Amino acid sequence: MSTATVVGSGPNGLAAAITLARAGISVTVLEATDEPGGGCRSSEMLEPGLIHDHCAAAHPMAIGSSFLTSLDLARHGVRWLLPEIDCVHPLDDGTAGVLYRSVDDTATRMGRDGNRWHALFGYPSEHFDTLSEDITAPLLHVPHHPIQLARFGLPAALPASTIARLFRTEPARALYGGVAAHTFRPLHYPMTAAVGLGIMTAGHRHGWPVVSGGTGSLIRAMTASLAELGGTVHTGVRVANAAQLPDADLTLFDLEPGAVADILGDLLPTRVSRAFAKFRHGPGAFKVDFAVDSGVPWTNPNAHRAGTVHLGGTYAEVAATERQIHAGAMPAQPFVLVGQQYLADPQRSAGNIHPLWTYAHVPFGYSGDATEAIIGQIERFAPGFRERIIGMAVRSTTEMSAYNANYVGGDIMTGAKDIRQLVFGPRISLGPYSLGTPGMYICSAATPPGPGAHGMCGVHAANAALKHLR
Ligand SMILES: Cc1cc2nc3c(=O)[nH]c(=O)nc-3n(C[C@H](O)[C@H](O)[C@H](O)COP(=O)(O)OP(=O)(O)OC[C@H]3O[C@@H](n4cnc5c(N)ncnc54)[C@H](O)[C@@H]3O)c2cc1C
Repeated sequence: MSTATVVGSGPNGLAAAITLARAGISVTVLEATDEPGGGCRSSEMLEPGLIHDHCAAAHPMAIGSSFLTSLDLARHGVRWLLPEIDCVHPLDDGTAGVLYRSVDDTATRMGRDGNRWHALFGYPSEHFDTLSEDITAPLLHVPHHPIQLARFGLPAALPASTIARLFRTEPARALYGGVAAHTFRPLHYPMTAAVGLGIMTAGHRHGWPVVSGGTGSLIRAMTASLAELGGTVHTGVRVANAAQLPDADLTLFDLEPGAVADILGDLLPTRVSRAFAKFRHGPGAFKVDFAVDSGVPWTNPNAHRAGTVHLGGTYAEVAATERQIHAGAMPAQPFVLVGQQYLADPQRSAGNIHPLWTYAHVPFGYSGDATEAIIGQIERFAPGFRERIIGMAVRSTTEMSAYNANYVGGDIMTGAKDIRQLVFGPRISLGPYSLGTPGMYICSAATPPGPGAHGMCGVHAANAALKHLR
């Protein structure tokens, strides 16, 4: 029987392990921390009964993932729960951009920008099920659906700022800008439209669901699926060098490229270690989880019904703060994402005390404290919030990388999503998962199709490894 080791048990590591185990390979996963899951863990971190997602929270890309839908997740207790409204982007004048799952509902309430919203997102979201075969594959591949891909890909290649200029009303422009900002890049750079269009299109097909009981439930279902296939996960095993790696036919790394280079050292071909040494990380995230009495007193009524609230003011303001963090400067009012998962999943609350998930976009390796900046942004759109806070847990960029070594300098995207890294991953090659050393592969979110809980980086890397074995 062939054997494989997977280093790291994030969603991509587990997806790789399951794909290999399904092919009859004996798989062992080694995880540095005490609990599997990487960026997809949840716990009662503040108050008994209050469930917080440590990292990933909303899953427009994961719910339709061809890998996750191939697992019997429901049998393992996973239920996807949708908030009434996917995302709200409030403005200082009390108005807001409002994103519903339905393109029609979103466009109808958008006034003068409704037609444009429909023109941009109607076609790709209608064809999302087939389109996703292409957008969750490595970008360099022979397309399964070339016409649909071209209709999606042409706007995706543009700077987000070009698309933002199509909108004439501030709520629509800001709503679009907030989602585009998930790319953590200055929005006037080419291809910065890609990540936002992917999230928006997937969201208009599936919504922005949360996982019942916390994103960690998804990981428990994946580890249970792996166990049924005979695979095992060993926690508390931090792999620091090649000597620690078990002798196996295949070794896959669910790690950022720098860590892979550190572990493998001279085992990596020079061309690969040179490319990995040049791998760039993006700006960081500063996370604060709150326990809040009676929820957030938002001024805008729709924000009370939204799973996600984006705080950053107008499109111009969001674009300016994203430029600033990219240049290494901390804005006084950073872009802040707020998750109210308990609205879709009330079991996460304890009576009238609710878990609130937030993080701010900050410069790479930011060493200051962004807690007040986050509270300030929430107060700006929800005066009186501060008085409702009954507890909070803070994770700086340094603590973020201690929590998960993949988040270097707080970079939760596992690498800057510039054109080169978005298209090719860590190095320019037709085989983005191969490490150039026989039997060794990288399968983390640093590789295409990139971040999220969809597991598709792991699946593609495992398939490349299986091809090698055959
Ligand atoms: C604050 C935050 C919010 C996010 N929000 C969302 C969201 O709403 N929706 C979404 O889809 N995505 C979100 N993400 C991104 C998502 O969590 C990641 O893209 C995803 O977890 C990447 O999966 P992965 O398997 O590539 O790696 P990871 O999840 O990073 O897992 C890597 C694993 O490897 C382990 N490891 C590291 N080094 C070693 C070593 N030397 N030896 C052994 N094990 C090691 C780590 O402990 C970790 O468990 C968010 C991330 C963060 C941090």
